[in-house]
Amino acid sequence: MMDKKAFRIAVFPGDGIGPEVVREALKCLAAISETSGISFQTREGLIGGAATDACGMPLPESSLALARASDAVLLGAVGGPKWEALPYDLRPERALLGLREKLGLFANLRPVIAHADLIDASPLKTHIVQDIDLMIVRELTGDAYFGKPRGIRIEEGQRVGVNTILYTEEEIRRIAKVAFDLAMTRGRKLCSVDKANVLESTQLWRDVVTETGREYPDVSLSHMYVDNCAMQLIRNPAQFDVIVTTNMFGDILSDEASMLTGSIGMLPSASLGERAALYEPIHGSAPDIAGRDLANPLGMILSVAMMLRISFGMQAEGKRIEEAVRSVLKEGLRTRDIHQDGKNQVGTTAMGEGVVKHLRALLTR
Ligand code: NAD
Repeated sequence: MMDKKAFRIAVFPGDGIGPEVVREALKCLAAISETSGISFQTREGLIGGAATDACGMPLPESSLALARASDAVLLGAVGGPKWEALPYDLRPERALLGLREKLGLFANLRPVIAHADLIDASPLKTHIVQDIDLMIVRELTGDAYFGKPRGIRIEEGQRVGVNTILYTEEEIRRIAKVAFDLAMTRGRKLCSVDKANVLESTQLWRDVVTETGREYPDVSLSHMYVDNCAMQLIRNPAQFDVIVTTNMFGDILSDEASMLTGSIGMLPSASLGERAALYEPIHGSAPDIAGRDLANPLGMILSVAMMLRISFGMQAEGKRIEEAVRSVLKEGLRTRDIHQDGKNQVGTTAMGEGVVKHLRALLTR
């Protein structure tokens, strides 16, 4: 008998709705395993507020070791009001920065796709959102989030806040390559977003992206200032194929873009780097709805699809999950965040099970 393949996955459910959406995503993985013969060794670890409660730190060494020993990492979400008053280094969100740093995760991929059955859930007009299929590539390890000096200090008797935007050309080149490579697999259009008119660090960004582009003659490269991009994403989002941008601009633009699809609960993401890649929905721990069976698990489930495609090369199975999500929406199932009149409002568990039902049917077709 042929050996079954086994992929090792570190699972960090985290806080708030994290464990609720992770549970549904793992059901999809189990269905894939049953029909494909590929086994997934999932091992759970603590992260975020849950870890702070259990062992006094948001990213324990054991969790880091688990992530390092895995082929991929699945993460729910971290954070919540319970831990907001803690010192900065003990806050749940520090775990995310720590994981990114220790796993060398430098490229965050956020696909934004308008689902035909959810067009009406977007606050924008149908003709604006109907053809959206774009990918935002956000740099993850540089910029003001990591640059030094940083902090709040006293100068001449008053408090002064400082952060430093810093990018090396090597950091820019490696993220540019990820974006160009992705553009080659899609519509071959890349828009690099910066603020080169006022920030020298992003003039360097523009220069290095342009230089890198010479290696990709088949990709049409354009540059856009971030303020214009914020506007264009609302005015005509279908003009974009792949967008590549800095850590802070990407943070803001990708949340803006999420609203094009109707709900932050719909969007997956992947963070790639030197070791195991990390997959998580783009939303946070949503403490306002945690524990009430209200969370939309589809962003988390679609993150599993990205994991199968990118980390394990399982294109067909990843596609089946995406099809199953489309089918469940077509069937009319809606969690509260995407609910509309005439549709069937269900909870997190029923939505997850709906996806699994369609997935099983697709896998055994
Ligand atoms: P959030 O994404 O948790 O919630 C924003 C709004 O969207 C809320 O109204 C919430 O109910 C809703 N929402 C989010 N996900 C949803 C889902 N799957 N289904 C239905 N509705 C959903 O952002 P926030 O309120 O700014 O942050 C809450 C906590 O999460 C904070 O502690 C923050 O630091 C943390 N956070 C963590 C991550 C992460 O773990 N990657 C990302 C962002 C925020």
